[in-house]
Amino acid sequence: MRILTKTLTMAIAVALVILVLLLCACQKSDSENKINVQSDTLYVEKVENMPKDFILGMDASCVPSLEASGVKYYDHNGEEKDVYEILSANGINYIRVRIWNDPFNASGQGYGGGNCDIENAVKIGKRAAKYGMKLLVNFHYSDFWADPAKQMVPKAWKNMNIEDKAEALYAYTRESLNKLKKAGADIGMVQIGNETNGAMCGEFSTELGGWEKITRLMSAGSKAVREVCPNALVAVHFANPEKVSNYVSYSTNLDYYGVDYDVFASSYYPFWHGTLDNLAEVLSDVAEKYNKKVMVAETSYAYTAQDTDFYGNTIGDGGGIVKNYPFTIQGQSNLVRDVVNTMVNKTTNGIGVFYWEGTWISVGGESYEDNLALWEKYGSGWAASYATEYDSEDAGKWYGGCAVDNQAFFDAQGKATEALKVFGLLREGNNIYK
Ligand code: CA
Repeated sequence: MRILTKTLTMAIAVALVILVLLLCACQKSDSENKINVQSDTLYVEKVENMPKDFILGMDASCVPSLEASGVKYYDHNGEEKDVYEILSANGINYIRVRIWNDPFNASGQGYGGGNCDIENAVKIGKRAAKYGMKLLVNFHYSDFWADPAKQMVPKAWKNMNIEDKAEALYAYTRESLNKLKKAGADIGMVQIGNETNGAMCGEFSTELGGWEKITRLMSAGSKAVREVCPNALVAVHFANPEKVSNYVSYSTNLDYYGVDYDVFASSYYPFWHGTLDNLAEVLSDVAEKYNKKVMVAETSYAYTAQDTDFYGNTIGDGGGIVKNYPFTIQGQSNLVRDVVNTMVNKTTNGIGVFYWEGTWISVGGESYEDNLALWEKYGSGWAASYATEYDSEDAGKWYGGCAVDNQAFFDAQGKATEALKVFGLLREGNNIYK
């Protein structure tokens, strides 16, 4: 009887300890998930009606190559931290990562731009999940940059007919998503192609049967996503919303050929892509006509005109300033706020906004040559000389460093700028003039 009482007492004690531990763990995760961003200097006008699950995303694909080059990241207090933790603590809830099939030459030297293969995406997917962020998997279906100017087929798929290419794309998508899932990435969305303006994976709408081929490839990718990640959204992605009837044409072709997708995504660079009112109008048209979700998959703006890595920036000293948005911390923050407000309040079915490569900064070094050595070795510039074999016309001529270091949310030393706080302040606003 005494033994029984003793056992019972011990069991109750153990149960109590477990209960206390569980309560502590719950409280810890509550406090960890809470965004507590404050600023005395950044004015942020509140975005009304913002859904709780609205996507505030960041493309941060280059981080591992930058870290290999020696870059370190620091939070607003100057404390060195995992940059994905810093992003999460500042209100970012989604990470976007691009994937190139094989961004290496035969000797294994990387093409640059982060050498973003599936292994790189696995590293990032794990880290994003660790800090509670979902992953947007962005397949370019190319060995290097895919955008409106180029949609080059991967080396391994070069001489395939459309049937074989669709099969290869389907298998590759399945295999890649399975690797990410296995690594613990929280895949929320998968993008089938990048800025596929009438071209994808070496197929072009200007050629006979072009759209049929492009949409066939998109359908193969979509099918793989539905099978491997049934809860993930399937996104398609285009650019140049400012061009009259572009999105009407793309969405009509997707509908005609029956591509199964959920999200029609657009790039929106304010220095190239027209007004926000136009963006809202063309995306709302697609959303309403085909009952789709819409979002901004890429946007960015400069906080300074200065370049920090001896490789010229896309916008900056050379121009690109947009009316009402000076190249300042406040100007960059205002741009982000206005893009988010447009998607929340002026666009039908707007689900989110992703900022492009807000973590891509200078790798340091006091001279062009010092920087170049790191870009070549670790792929931390936009292109390395090794990309010449694949893309002789562009990368082969202009390879070099980062063209967006002045559009990041981290300064040249890796410290978070005040503008990064905009994401955490949007929901409530931050009236510093009170
Ligand atoms: Ca630069």
